Amino acid sequence: MQTHEINNRFIEHFRNTGHTVVPSASLILDDPNLLFVNAGMVQFKPYFLGEVPAPYPRATSIQKCVRTADIDEVGKTTRHNTFFQMAGNFSFGDYFKEGAIEHAWQLITASQDSGGYGLEPDRIWVTVYNNDDEAARLWNKVAGLPAERIQRRGMDDNFWSMNVPGPCGPSSEIYYDRGPAYGQEGGPLVDESRYIEIWNLVFMQDQRGESTGPGKSDFSVLGPLPAQNIDTGMGVERVACLLQGVENVYETDLVRPVINMAEELSGRRYGADPNDDVRFRVIADHARTGVLLVSDGVTPSNETRGYVLRRLLRRIVRSTRLLGVHEPVLGEFAQVVRDAMAPSYPELTTEFERIDSVMRNEEEAFLATLSAGSKIFDMAATETRRAGSTQLPGSKAFQLHDTYGFPIDLTLEMAAEQGLSVDEQGFRDLMSEQRRRAKEDARARKTAHADTSTYRSLLDEHGTTEFIGYTDLQAQSRVL
Ligand code: ATP
Ligand code: MG
Ligand code: MG
Ligand code: MG
Repeated sequence: MQTHEINNRFIEHFRNTGHTVVPSASLILDDPNLLFVNAGMVQFKPYFLGEVPAPYPRATSIQKCVRTADIDEVGKTTRHNTFFQMAGNFSFGDYFKEGAIEHAWQLITASQDSGGYGLEPDRIWVTVYNNDDEAARLWNKVAGLPAERIQRRGMDDNFWSMNVPGPCGPSSEIYYDRGPAYGQEGGPLVDESRYIEIWNLVFMQDQRGESTGPGKSDFSVLGPLPAQNIDTGMGVERVACLLQGVENVYETDLVRPVINMAEELSGRRYGADPNDDVRFRVIADHARTGVLLVSDGVTPSNETRGYVLRRLLRRIVRSTRLLGVHEPVLGEFAQVVRDAMAPSYPELTTEFERIDSVMRNEEEAFLATLSAGSKIFDMAATETRRAGSTQLPGSKAFQLHDTYGFPIDLTLEMAAEQGLSVDEQGFRDLMSEQRRRAKEDARARKTAHADTSTYRSLLDEHGTTEFIGYTDLQAQSRVL
């Protein structure tokens, strides 16, 4: 079943059960806690928080999501994209646990002839929060799941909150057993690559208090909410992977065409060499994320969102070079992504000229310094080893970033390939120092000019941008 059909069936299932169909929000929403929209519920936050009354009791959407925190998994696990589509259904004080479980179960197990996904009920496992006996009971009642296929998990995995006082509650995740060829028996608690997570149901039933410590689960639950809500998210690419019988999310119908193009450009074959295969998958994943981010207005830069985009695009270029291609490639990949994704996102066609030129310009800028930077890197690596160390100095990473436009993760990746680490703290200290100086300079310029209105309006428009390094990007919080 093609991805578009998976999406259509999801929307139809929920439209037919009284849900208002809401279009995907942009990847960029005005939310100080999020770089990018990373879950379907983000655009509905004001309703969940009770700031604005929900205009409908039930809603459904297919939301574009970007999770930068998953970047290191890309190409290595079978199931993590940086860009993916999250299909969701939401209840604002309407149905609760039983309804959410019924809806999900019906859609995934109904036969394909009757509009469902036709997954085999016997291969479905779920997790519930430790003390959520109600959810466990409902899984048995609604789906007939035996106790051994209902596993229990603690706060870190199966309890949701926004990390601030507000709604919170237990969650329940749905997994599909891909079979013994994919790993160990025993359910998701034993092996999450054999038992692949496809859907997460969040039961917002309680009020969360202030944090009481640094941990994700350091807070108290104050008591029940006046109205209970449902927030769910199904991974479209993961369901596509299962229904298309492919090995991983990168081989699904909307992602795989980029791999094909990379094969064509490089003359190498996907499936022939495990190291190349990771590169093929990274290219396919990042190309899609890059195009979708540019389409939503992000441009490459050294700050926040633009920096994430820059890292992704430069990683594609480098991965393609490691496949032996030295010509520009981003324009080719952008076209393939457009052709695959435009039926769902027509703006990729109407905006293509702009997307294409942003990507090509970034590639040109990077290629201009890549060779010189690589030489500096190799010299530094040799020096480091000669000095009997295995850690590249932060000052080198900084020089590569500052002079040659190497994102820190590129330096980290190149170092790792040579068995070296990088003094990341040293790198970050130099970055902060540079930013502090830049701010001082700007302040000096501002007082030197009578008219500061341009600075003011820039500041108002963009806020004060802080450099967000590699680790901070990883800390971007999980929302579901
Ligand atoms: P995982 O444990 O596999 O990393 P998760 O628990 O972080 O997933 P949720 O936050 O529960 O994921 O998101 C809801 C659903 O979105 C998941 O059940 C999964 O199907 C899908 N999903 C999450 N992250 C990704 C990703 N990086 N790529 C593709 N699909 C994803
Ligand atoms: Mg995750
Ligand atoms: Mg999970
Ligand atoms: Mg989950």
